[in-house]
Amino acid sequence: MVRPCPLCRTPTSWEGNPWKPFCSERCQTRDLGAWASERYAIPDRPAQEEGEGWSGEDEAGE
Ligand SMILES: [Zn+2]
Repeated sequence: MVRPCPLCRTPTSWEGNPWKPFCSERCQTRDLGAWASERYAIPDRPAQEEGEGWSGEDEAGE
């Protein structure tokens, strides 16, 4: 199973990948860190922008 990394869009194999669905520990840490810090920094605001990175709608072409 190969899917694009939610952060950097690099095609990433999930098999034997401890960081899935991310391509690497760096992306996983970055995503979790951003998520946590945004959540704590803006506790009152819905995370609408977050959806863009997860839906993967407009990166398939090219
Ligand atoms: Zn990545």
